[in-house]
Amino acid sequence: MATDTLFGRIIRGEIPSDKVFEDDDVLAFRDIHPAAPTHILVNPKARANATIDAATPEDAARHGKLLLTAAQIARDHGFAQDGYRLVINTHDDGGQTVYHLHVHLLAGRQLTWPPG
Ligand code: 5GP
Repeated sequence: MATDTLFGRIIRGEIPSDKVFEDDDVLAFRDIHPAAPTHILVNPKARANATIDAATPEDAARHGKLLLTAAQIARDHGFAQDGYRLVINTHDDGGQTVYHLHVHLLAGRQLTWPPG
């Protein structure tokens, strides 16, 4: 479990963040180094895995909710029509730097493919 990480400290309120959404299961806040005009990090609050690779079938409902919440946040910010991207960086080659599973919501410009 990934509780003693930067995002664990943000979720516990020990480090401030620019929150955009919170419920019992999920905390979403703005990325401090945005890679797009809107860049939000969507985090499970409790029992977070370090990576998606560490997830098990018991996590299916929680992680499904995480993705649905990210999509709801995108809708709430008006990106349903123009579009957006959800990203889960995983381990070194995936570019992961914080080992508390999180979904990046990137929106507000034309995103290129393939990513760098
Ligand atoms: P990862 O690289 O693990 O997929 O994503 C970590 C993200 O956390 C990066 O996009 C980085 O900019 C962001 N980040 C790093 N430190 C902080 C911080 O103190 N506050 C916030 N809000 N975001 C951070």
